[in-house]
Amino acid sequence: MTLTTRLSVYSMAALTVVLAGFSTTLYLLSRTYLSRQVDEHLEAALSTLVAAAEIGPDGFEWEPNARMLVQSDDPSAGPLYWMVSDGQGHSVDRSTNTASNDSMIQSLAAFTASHHKTDVVKMNGQDWRLLQRRLEMSTGTDQPTAGTPRGSSNHAKKTRYPILVLGAAVSQKPVQHALHTLAAALIGVSSSIWLLALFGGRFLCRRALAPLTRMAAVTRRMNASDLVNRLPRPETGDELDDLSESFNGLLERLHESFERQRRFTGDASHQLRTPLTAILGQIEVAVRRKRTPDEYERTLILVQEQGARLHQIVEMLLFLARADADAQLPNLEIIDLGFWLQTHLKSWAGHPRANDLRLESNSDVPLWVKTHPVMLAQLVDNLLDNACKYSVASTAVILRLSAEDGIASLEVQDAGCGIAPDDLPHVFEPFYRSPHARRLGFDGVGLGLAVAKRIALALGGEIFPQSGPTTGSCFTLRLPTVIPRSPAISQYE
Ligand code: ADP
Repeated sequence: MTLTTRLSVYSMAALTVVLAGFSTTLYLLSRTYLSRQVDEHLEAALSTLVAAAEIGPDGFEWEPNARMLVQSDDPSAGPLYWMVSDGQGHSVDRSTNTASNDSMIQSLAAFTASHHKTDVVKMNGQDWRLLQRRLEMSTGTDQPTAGTPRGSSNHAKKTRYPILVLGAAVSQKPVQHALHTLAAALIGVSSSIWLLALFGGRFLCRRALAPLTRMAAVTRRMNASDLVNRLPRPETGDELDDLSESFNGLLERLHESFERQRRFTGDASHQLRTPLTAILGQIEVAVRRKRTPDEYERTLILVQEQGARLHQIVEMLLFLARADADAQLPNLEIIDLGFWLQTHLKSWAGHPRANDLRLESNSDVPLWVKTHPVMLAQLVDNLLDNACKYSVASTAVILRLSAEDGIASLEVQDAGCGIAPDDLPHVFEPFYRSPHARRLGFDGVGLGLAVAKRIALALGGEIFPQSGPTTGSCFTLRLPTVIPRSPAISQYE
């Protein structure tokens, strides 16, 4: 089922319930109101008749002239029939319009003989509403319960009744006719509204969801190798607009990620190919003819050098290719960074620039950090390697230690060629080598800083570069300090 159909079904079901509820309520209220009006009409007629009954101490006396007071034909309510009987079904008086209507006389007689206050009878194909009122002398006191006492001067001449039953009947046809008209109108209007809502709602639904259909069509045409296409924006400022914007954002990120990966693979292949080509070249030259043991040894040493370089590149690539979760380093130790650096710098003793390395510390207290010493050594070595490589011999390479707000900082500063502002944001990207460094012929792969950054992040720290045209480069590593439970836990103490 399409979304349009589903939405239409839900809304039409809701509309059906609303229309049915509204129409039924209106119909029932109207029926109650009209029935009450009929009863009020009958009550008014009976009250007028009651006024015509004269009450004496020994019974009721009927004043026939008073019947003129009762309007027997009300044009809005239809003909009204009435009868006054003695309680046994014998007519004392009745409306003039009953003269030619025997069935009405019989019905009123039977009704006034009964004790039902109201009744509905079918006569001449119509429903008639009947209402009665009984005038009785109250037992024990001999006082009448209804009617108007009159003077008793001429009472002896007239017949007196202990009981008078007043009955009135009116046709329900006008009410039923009004109710039928109302029901027809309600059904007609409700059906029209329902049909209008069905077609209008479907049209609007389709129109509102048209951008979704267009987006689905464009998405269907997309494939993994072609991520330049974007979803059309409906420009409606609603959820669909939001959806296409978010989806396009996702495509953008995927595109960038694929591009990065493609570049990474290309660069990695390129970097691996160089030492491999060198190794194969050396071997090819060596096997062309028989060589002396010294020549073979020289070739093997060259192959070993290229093999070591190859090994180093593969190791760095493996480290960078590992997922972030895997890069979380186990077996972290708490060390005093200042003391550790002093110890570590001893491993640089044989390096040609060993005398240029200076360690400065602005902190006179130990700087405890939780770290992985082997990885930290790799990070510091990468920074020192670069500092030595990109600066001339005899210029100082300073390692500056400081601490502030629970963060230990290690700056590695050189007085070398520096990094151009355009290159600064890219130096941590794998295989990035600045055009300046290439031009000056510095050897390198472009992985040292990428590895350094990955290690810094795995240690819970950060690393960022600074450089000016005349100041050389400065890389700052920031690591959070910790408070050791016992300084003795460090193996470097
Ligand atoms: P590599 O040094 O092998 O080229 P790196 O990842 O270590 O790769 O460095 C990336 C780039 O950052 C270098 O090519 C160079 O342009 C620049 N760079 C890094 N360290 C320095 C530095 N100390 N001085 C100047 N440029 C640097």
